[in-house]
Amino acid sequence: MTDPRVDEIRGNLSAVEERIAAACAAADRNRDDVTLIAVTKTFPPDDVRRLAGLRVADIGENRDQEAARKVAALADLDVRWHFVGQLQTNKCRSVATYAYAVHSVDRTQLVDALAHAAAQDGRTLNVFVQVSLDGDPARGGVDPAEVSPLADRVATSAGLELMGVMAVAPVGGDAARSFDRLSDVAARVRADHPAATAISAGMSGDLEAALGAGATHV
Ligand SMILES: *Cc1c(COP(=O)(O)O)cnc(C)c1O
Repeated sequence: MTDPRVDEIRGNLSAVEERIAAACAAADRNRDDVTLIAVTKTFPPDDVRRLAGLRVADIGENRDQEAARKVAALADLDVRWHFVGQLQTNKCRSVATYAYAVHSVDRTQLVDALAHAAAQDGRTLNVFVQVSLDGDPARGGVDPAEVSPLADRVATSAGLELMGVMAVAPVGGDAARSFDRLSDVAARVRADHPAATAISAGMSGDLEAALGAGATHV
């Protein structure tokens, strides 16, 4: 049986893979050092199933309600769920039950709520500290000057593993410059926490700029 939607997703996936390969080549980087996260928000669970069938193992969602529904409907799939959206403390209990990683940790209360929830479930959550590159609180992220204490708190919380930093490029800004700033913040975090080598950045529109600045998760 042929599923035209699988063909469509396969085509999109190979176009993205080509862009990643070209950006890695341009930056003299190894493709194997980059994790592609397919963000499936607003797309149906069957699309996640199709992606898994195409060997995409990392799936991103930005709302707990939608993510939790998909996770429940797709319990048989062997995929890692990445939470990339703004998070409220009252959702941490739920997110901690299914997330492999949370990319949007930008305040102490979230660190503590996630750590508490992870401990309750006996799980380990991988955490990215989200950095604000434009000072716009509406888009989430902590000011670069505040990253260090937050990263320290993640690193010392049982049940949480500090992966590194995450940011979204400011709207209408110069993405390459923004991601260079993120790269500087990442280097400072790495100086204190050598294992926290991950940089989560880059969406469909700006993944080349992100990979050029060292993004490990796009
Ligand atoms: C939606 C979203 C993405 C994916 O954006 P695309 O343009 O679909 O690639 C990535 N990161 C975050 C934080 C998002 O909310």
